Amino acid sequence: MSDIKTLKEELFYSRKNGRQISKEEVLEKADAYCKDYKKFLDNAKTEREAVKIAVDMAKQKGFVPFEIGKKYNVGDKVYFNNRGKTIALAVIGKETIENGANITAAHIDSPRLDLKPNPLYEEIELALFKTHYYGGIRKYQWTAIPLALHGVFALKNGTVKEVCIGENEDEPKFVINDLLPHLATEQNKRTLAEGIKGEELNVLIGSHPFKADEGSELVKLNILKLLNEKYGIKEEDFLSAELEMVPAFKACDIGFDRSLIGAYGQDDRVCAYPALTAILAVEAPVKTAIAILADKEEIGSMGNTGLESDFLRFVIGDIAKMQNADHTVALRNSKCLSADVNAGLDPTFQDVSERRNASMLNYGVVVTKYTGARGKSSTSDASAEYVAYVRNMLDKAGIIWQTGELGKVDAGGGGTVAMYIANMGVDVVDLGVPVLSMHAPFETTAKFDVYMCYRAMYEFMK
Ligand code: MN
Ligand code: MN
Repeated sequence: MSDIKTLKEELFYSRKNGRQISKEEVLEKADAYCKDYKKFLDNAKTEREAVKIAVDMAKQKGFVPFEIGKKYNVGDKVYFNNRGKTIALAVIGKETIENGANITAAHIDSPRLDLKPNPLYEEIELALFKTHYYGGIRKYQWTAIPLALHGVFALKNGTVKEVCIGENEDEPKFVINDLLPHLATEQNKRTLAEGIKGEELNVLIGSHPFKADEGSELVKLNILKLLNEKYGIKEEDFLSAELEMVPAFKACDIGFDRSLIGAYGQDDRVCAYPALTAILAVEAPVKTAIAILADKEEIGSMGNTGLESDFLRFVIGDIAKMQNADHTVALRNSKCLSADVNAGLDPTFQDVSERRNASMLNYGVVVTKYTGARGKSSTSDASAEYVAYVRNMLDKAGIIWQTGELGKVDAGGGGTVAMYIANMGVDVVDLGVPVLSMHAPFETTAKFDVYMCYRAMYEFMK
């Protein structure tokens, strides 16, 4: 019998719960790490805010904006700020970049409700904003919860007015109404996907009319007066604004044992924060280390701040030029961890996952060889050789990890930035944190996995 046990131990692969097998000090480190992670979640709810915080944190660690024509040496720390929405941070390595860079890439945009270019209107003496959802949301989840408004007005004179209302305790918040059950007989017959429709995601923003003897749209007028006093804007200025409605919740611990975190926007700040804090800890690596926090992943990585653009190619190109090196050779020799979340196995909805290949909370970072849909459509399927490299790295460093697929075959699907980076010739695999209620206004992760993600990011770039 004992022979069988030994042989099984030797030959079988079995995942283990990280909280069960880790020393107390590791769990304490995970707790401590997540305290700052929660602060980051509260202060970086949009891509612009995340870049701002990243720049502040990077400057404190000696990072400077990369300047073309300037010479940077081993251990020098630079960053490339792309329009305040995407940032690449790099620490120059001992070897030429032609030998390849070690790149981590996470995204800092999250599903939300953008205001339409002409958002403001009044209906039955209530003022509202029209929205256009951004990314994959389940629309019914966004009603009857407190919302905050973040973003900017870009004025014709070149000034940019920042907006952030609804985050402080004493600030007003906003809300999308839903029907009362008493009158929802017809609405209840809709499918879940249609339960709330896109054009029903209208945000209530006020009800107080401007004091006047008569006139129409007095509530709208009063709102514009308030906005004019606060930001100096007129209705026309909404045309050149980027305003985002996001959940007003704060990040918090979940569970009696406080082992989990609940917050908005953990896809993908749960990987962006580890990538950021890891690059800030890197000193004089052998290979040049690069961490990218990208915009637009949730809508397909398109546009000049998304990773389908040439941004990463140009970052590598700039560093290569500075070293009189060839950037195409550099790309071909580079390695990347596409740091994005995977769907954690949900106890209530286990049937959408295939248990042997689904990631589980507390089982560490999840390596996702491919995402995509149906027959591996639209994905970068990482090579066996590269997955072996990553496996070896994680095991050697004692980082707890697991593998995951994004749900059962044909259950649905999804993608990450991995395929766009792979298209440049870089070796890429997805590595991130399992999430429950992904893309909901309030997502759940496990602290242990967040910390393992940080360790993996650091180990890869150090
Ligand atoms: Mn993501
Ligand atoms: Mn996502």
